[in-house]
Amino acid sequence: MYNVAIIGAGPAGIFSALEIVKLKPDWKVVLIEKGDKIEDRKCLLREGYSKCPTCKKCGLLCGWGGAGAFSDGKLTLTPDVGGHLVDYMSRKEVEELIDYSDKLYLEFGATDEVFGTDRKTFDELERQAALAELKLVHSPVRHLGTERSLDVLKNMQDYLMDKITILNNVSAKNLIVECEQVKGIILDNGETIEAEYTIIAPGREGADWLTHEFAKNKIGMVNNAVDVGVRVELPAPVFEPITNKLYESKLIYYSPTFGDAVRTFCMNPNGEVVQENYNGIATVNGHSYANIKTRNTNFALLVSEQFTEPFKEPIAYGQRIASLANMLGGGILVQRFGDLLDGRRSTPDRIKSSIIEPTLKCATPGDLSLVLPYRQLTSIIEMLYALDKIAPGTASRYTLLYGIEVKFYSARVKLTNDLETEGVKNLFTIGDGAGVTRGLIQASASGVHVARVICSR
Ligand SMILES: Cc1cc2nc3c(=O)[nH]c(=O)nc-3n(C[C@H](O)[C@H](O)[C@H](O)COP(=O)(O)OP(=O)(O)OC[C@H]3O[C@@H](n4cnc5c(N)ncnc54)[C@H](O)[C@@H]3O)c2cc1C
Repeated sequence: MYNVAIIGAGPAGIFSALEIVKLKPDWKVVLIEKGDKIEDRKCLLREGYSKCPTCKKCGLLCGWGGAGAFSDGKLTLTPDVGGHLVDYMSRKEVEELIDYSDKLYLEFGATDEVFGTDRKTFDELERQAALAELKLVHSPVRHLGTERSLDVLKNMQDYLMDKITILNNVSAKNLIVECEQVKGIILDNGETIEAEYTIIAPGREGADWLTHEFAKNKIGMVNNAVDVGVRVELPAPVFEPITNKLYESKLIYYSPTFGDAVRTFCMNPNGEVVQENYNGIATVNGHSYANIKTRNTNFALLVSEQFTEPFKEPIAYGQRIASLANMLGGGILVQRFGDLLDGRRSTPDRIKSSIIEPTLKCATPGDLSLVLPYRQLTSIIEMLYALDKIAPGTASRYTLLYGIEVKFYSARVKLTNDLETEGVKNLFTIGDGAGVTRGLIQASASGVHVARVICSR
């Protein structure tokens, strides 16, 4: 019998464990993680495989540290980016939680440099963006870099190792709910974990499982937007006037044709594009190392779609689009912007006769117009032209577009302000899997928040 069971060792789960251990050192806590320990995590693609072998359990997304473990750890230190925590508490409270979580990252070895704190520089860039009809969001960033990020996570694992029970390579299969109160979890190895409180933090990887399990228990969910788009890769100097000052810029544009919000996301100066695998579907992402620099910068351009009644399956919608790209290219597609505009596919020869060398080697040159719906494609093209005004060269015919990047934030669990699941007592649902966060720092902050709530009861 545990006081608290936590599902998922991503930042949300880890930070709830860290806070509980601090507030209630004598409590029995179990953390269940379907992937490996941090030191055993492996992504074959990162180790030189040319195609994603679609492992049974994706090493990039599963294991200690969650989806962010191999990311370059950009902690975006503002409530305006990376989640919806302000929907559940005051902005001041979210700021405090972010500040607290950031300090914990520092305690466990994060770098102390923060980009984008100089207000004067930001104001000038904001002015330039406004002239191009772009909104620049103020978002200071602490950049750990992939290597440092792994060290920080390892330090957290070592710290918690003898304070709580950590179960690796085992999944939560079913929740035990009796009389509208959670009682524990049944694992996929048949074992039962009894606990007074349960925190579910399965990330986007576990979002399908969560949706299914909650539907079974009649727990309310609301549709979230789905973000579909491409990853843009261009020569690093094109974006240097911005990235040198802010590291990462969060820009929002309302496309003239459809009025949809298109935003830049996860900008990686001198970084590389990577493939990830969601339940067998190859999608694209990006990161950058603290010490290894490529000649390119990459970022996502995402178009948000909020579906209305009767459609209730935004995750499936995003998956279908990504699957279509997989069907045509056997994985990720890559296309030069010029080829897209000319209405022709990119070929290996056309990609070769370019000024940019793709950092994702396994992408197949192809035609994104056969994959992306007209609505999203038009919005992306319009956004590229808007960005070209503040970073000339963005709309170059050599700019590479990789598809598809999808963010599955869809199922948003109905939660109280304590992030307790509506209708089931003592069940807390946090992080990206709950649809309440979209990034490392807010996921971490959500973990701290529920830990405090639970410990105060
Ligand atoms: C390549 C990449 C780069 C990124 N870069 C950044 C960045 O620079 N900055 C940023 O802010 N965000 C970034 N993100 C997003 C960030 O990683 C996520 O927002 C964050 O990890 C979410 O935390 P989480 O704890 O909610 O979920 P996750 O980190 O996804 O962790 C969930 C964990 O739960 C486990 N799990 C799932 N289901 C079960 C189950 N049934 N039983 C047991 N365990 C289960 C999974 O294996 C996983 O380890 C990046 C993501 C990726 C993939």
